[in-house]
Amino acid sequence: MGFTVVQECPQCGAAVELDEADHLLRCPYCEVNSFLFSDDCYRFVLPHKAGNRDLIFAPYLRFKGSVFSCDMEAVRYRIVDITQLGVPFKGFPISLGLRPQAMKMRFAQMDGPGSFIKCLLKTQDLLARAERHSAVSDTGEVFHRVSIGEAMSLIYLPLYVENRALFDGITNRPIAGLAREGDIFASITDYHPRWSLTFMATLCPQCGWNLTGERDSVVLTCSNCETAWEAEKGKFIQIDLAVAPGDGPETFYLPFWKMSVQATGIPIASYADFIRATNQPRVIQKAWEDQEMTFWSPAFKLQPNRFLYLSRQLTLVQPALNIDGRLPEKHLYPVTLPLTDALQGITITLAGSAVNKKKLMPRLPDLRLSLKGASLVYLPFHETAHEMVQKDTHVSINKKSLEFGRFL
Ligand SMILES: [Zn+2]
Ligand SMILES: [Zn+2]
Repeated sequence: MGFTVVQECPQCGAAVELDEADHLLRCPYCEVNSFLFSDDCYRFVLPHKAGNRDLIFAPYLRFKGSVFSCDMEAVRYRIVDITQLGVPFKGFPISLGLRPQAMKMRFAQMDGPGSFIKCLLKTQDLLARAERHSAVSDTGEVFHRVSIGEAMSLIYLPLYVENRALFDGITNRPIAGLAREGDIFASITDYHPRWSLTFMATLCPQCGWNLTGERDSVVLTCSNCETAWEAEKGKFIQIDLAVAPGDGPETFYLPFWKMSVQATGIPIASYADFIRATNQPRVIQKAWEDQEMTFWSPAFKLQPNRFLYLSRQLTLVQPALNIDGRLPEKHLYPVTLPLTDALQGITITLAGSAVNKKKLMPRLPDLRLSLKGASLVYLPFHETAHEMVQKDTHVSINKKSLEFGRFL
């Protein structure tokens, strides 16, 4: 489970607790749902006990997600959970310790009182550092590295200056002496912070019906006009939705992104191109030369090995299913992985599918992908004692993995 955030319901003002990665605020008091949207990653502040003092907020960059890397031998992966001070100032505590776990954070109000210090640490540098400290070091050259399904955020620690000392605003204890008078933080203060959080009403832009989703959903659906919506720049944008019909009320539906891309560097336009590029031990059929290649990815967070397995299996199979089903009323698994993340995963799927890794991996740095089209496809699964099974494609997923994925 991630960190807890407290936010007032924009409708009735009641305090509601959220997980750090939640998007849908469901108020248990007035029952109004609001979708949380910000252009950039979430920003949180730890609660202070400093009264009316002038606060300085020190930034800590946090990353939690799966990191994949491709070397000559294999696609390697690990789950990374790291929080690091975002500015090279020695007076600030080097880490937040257990505070984010132990305290309830709030979304930062950057136009409110206090000065916010700029975060100078870049995500890529944070991940590279995590890599160096990791026990599983990569063997040899890494041709491609990407993070998928991440919760990226900035956490601010409240501090203040008194009697030439820097104080921790949570404990009110001095943490560092300051050598000189005056505003020593002037050069690293963000004077025009642009970040803000928008609360969007969860009404279907097409028919006005209530959109539905889970607290960690990144796509909401309308059961009335059977549409799916993703937030972009504070507005709901419709996404292409398809449902492969199941065979009964007990069917479960899991969401997948089906993507077609323009690939250069490693040119893959048709399914036959893909079979050749990944050296599949299969005789290429003539029809495959004209069959447009589509890449598949789970549209939900999963442990990296399961994510890679499902992406690879469905991409290899190229499911040709009847997709004119109705949007089911129940057993609809939430979309928790945005399309942008699924797109990042295409290179990993390609690398993971390669039979001859030594041949493909060194070509990965040349690969350029641009999205031509994408749709969200719900595939029917039936439940067995331990698994969810998709009978048309023979892919299956352990039920425990699905549960675990909700907490990634
Ligand atoms: Zn409310
Ligand atoms: Zn609608």
